[in-house]
Amino acid sequence: MKAVCWNAAHNIRVESVPDPAIINPRDAIVRVTLTAICGSDLHLYNGVIPSMKKGDILGHEFMGEVVEVGSAVQNLKPGDRVVVPFTIACGNCFFCQRKLWSLCDNSNPNAAAADKLYGYSGSGLFGYSHLFGGYAGGQAEYVRVPFADIGPFKVPDTLGDEQVLFLSDILPTGYMAAENCDIQPGDTVAVWGCGPVGQFALQSARWLGAERVIAIDHVPQRLHMAREHAQAEIVNFDEEDVSARLHELTGGLGPDACIDAVGLESHGSSIDAVYDRVKHAMYLATDRLHALRQAIYCCRKGGVVSVPGVYGGLLDKVPFGAAFAKGLKIAMGQTHVHRYLQPLLERIAGNGQPGFDPSYVITHRVPITEAAAAYHIFNNQKNECIKVVLTPS
Ligand SMILES: [Zn+2]
Ligand SMILES: [Zn+2]
Repeated sequence: MKAVCWNAAHNIRVESVPDPAIINPRDAIVRVTLTAICGSDLHLYNGVIPSMKKGDILGHEFMGEVVEVGSAVQNLKPGDRVVVPFTIACGNCFFCQRKLWSLCDNSNPNAAAADKLYGYSGSGLFGYSHLFGGYAGGQAEYVRVPFADIGPFKVPDTLGDEQVLFLSDILPTGYMAAENCDIQPGDTVAVWGCGPVGQFALQSARWLGAERVIAIDHVPQRLHMAREHAQAEIVNFDEEDVSARLHELTGGLGPDACIDAVGLESHGSSIDAVYDRVKHAMYLATDRLHALRQAIYCCRKGGVVSVPGVYGGLLDKVPFGAAFAKGLKIAMGQTHVHRYLQPLLERIAGNGQPGFDPSYVITHRVPITEAAAAYHIFNNQKNECIKVVLTPS
């Protein structure tokens, strides 16, 4: 089969590799009908996530048709159309039992390495380095799905692939980011980073009762999208001082909740952003976090800072004192995707009401054979690229 393989930083190739096969009784093989490149795949592309190996198959956002199931998989059969959560969960461990799916204790065969780094390992992830299990990803014609009796989620034929694909990651991720904000009626929620997760966080904040949502970015197309689809007020950080503007927009109080949907490669031109770039280039810190600092600084006292953006390692100059002095709550983590599949599918289907169509974030549809060019375009934010989906050739 054809698969998108990582060879080195900035070196992605579509290669012919062996088809995946059932290894365990709880596996399924899925023929991928649509897959996407995620902002967090760019961290792999740029070589900032360790433990990638030459030939690793990328991709954690995918859906398709079940073509084969292991002997222990009772709930799926060949022909079923499914979306697969990017977090791999066993369904039985202490954490899965508590619906903390992304913290599954049984799905990362390389947990010992993550234990060393983090104390305890999170779940395995598709296509996201050996630190998170070394699973082959879904930017391929076929993929092996472990614990297939728990993860894959059947979707109705009345909804197209582009309507449901994002249940695999970014829609639940944006939703959980907003849910973590404990939004009360009338709240104002500010979101740093208006990529697809930021867009869905803005939308979800509205669903959860926010009266005002504020989108912060410097890419005009993203800000335009946020205004158009989530009726966000917009702040362009290239043109205005973010904290002064938020202060003004909230009558001096600050936003009730601040979401950092940027993560470890945030951009900015302030002193601390330049400092981060220098330090990162010298390998003294592993994460750049201008957006997180600003979110902590701008949040109102007693508010919530919610962090769906991916961080990998050690953070330098986090204003922990400010967070403490202001009594902030900070919530973060990989998304417990499984929790949100059914409720978000209902949002998409609408059930009598007009449904929510998340496909508006797609700006590029590219055949999987041209994945290398697509990564390059996405990474360099060329051609107004917000979200890329890869179609099988
Ligand atoms: Zn993703
Ligand atoms: Zn588990």
